[in-house]
Amino acid sequence: MKKILIIYTGGTIGMHKDHSGSLKPFDFGKVTEQVPELNHLNCTLHHYAFKNLIDSSNVTPEFWQELVEVIKKNYSKHDGFVILHGTDTMAYSASALSFMLENLSKPVIFTGSQLPLGAIRTDAKRNLITSIELAAGKVVIPEVCIYFNYQLFRGNRSEKFTSSKFDAFQSLNYPALVEVGTDILYNSAYIAKIPKKKLIVHNAINPNIGLIRIFPGITGNWMEHFFSNPGLKAVVLETYGSGNAPTDKDFINTLQKAIKKGILIINVSQCSGGRVEQGKYETSLQLKKIGVISGQDLTTESALTKLMVLFGRFPKDINKIKKLMLSSQSGEITA
Ligand code: ASP
Repeated sequence: MKKILIIYTGGTIGMHKDHSGSLKPFDFGKVTEQVPELNHLNCTLHHYAFKNLIDSSNVTPEFWQELVEVIKKNYSKHDGFVILHGTDTMAYSASALSFMLENLSKPVIFTGSQLPLGAIRTDAKRNLITSIELAAGKVVIPEVCIYFNYQLFRGNRSEKFTSSKFDAFQSLNYPALVEVGTDILYNSAYIAKIPKKKLIVHNAINPNIGLIRIFPGITGNWMEHFFSNPGLKAVVLETYGSGNAPTDKDFINTLQKAIKKGILIINVSQCSGGRVEQGKYETSLQLKKIGVISGQDLTTESALTKLMVLFGRFPKDINKIKKLMLSSQSGEITA
């Protein structure tokens, strides 16, 4: 029988209402006691709960380091991992882990729910049960994934796009890895192959990465304050459409100055689907000329966490980081 480790970190799935009526995480102990159906699955379940259960809005890079350490310690003893996590930052955490766990050969599946486990119409039970089934399934999915509402997505391609519907996640630039209905349909052509090399854990993270979402009216002066943050290494610039931005001189000059100072700027789109193509429009040509790096079809969550991990791995080698940003590390880019 396969052995699966359930790692409980917090999130709505295990929350209840406190005296003020707000949802707060609580320690619901062994999940199997709450969901007896789990005893009928064809696998052995082990549990690990974080000491401080959090709403995922409180996720930090240190949290990812702790999570990766738990996986590393338990890697040889388990065939798969299911991580119970809040949905708000699940796409960030799944992306971060996909870059921190190189040569992953076992499934690491994030799941959570829109309604707490105790709610009558909860989505928690079915998300949890199927995540475990997939982690213990015959088809090994050697990836960091998100399972939500009958679909398994590659984690670093996913985003939370609705806070109220049960299908909270989408992955517009990469097909679902698995579709779950009466049968479980594996989209095998899109699932990563099991690597022959051993797992390498990249636990160093540099959190000095920023994010600017451009908006009509953004000025060079506004950005200048942002770029003056001491220690800033790189910025993800969320642009319009296929990578377009204002052509205003001040705006471009401020970006150029930041690049000359050694700050990397990665262009990703505010659109959830499609890709950045610098030079397609006149409004992205200048960005290309001054050395803004195209994020192609990266999600914002992937771009940000990939930079944090790469700056942790190669703190002195900016050229290497530039090169790696353009290629796929764990299936996050269609290059
Ligand atoms: N605020 C919650 C969290 O991300 C929402 C959820 O779990 O769905 O922890």
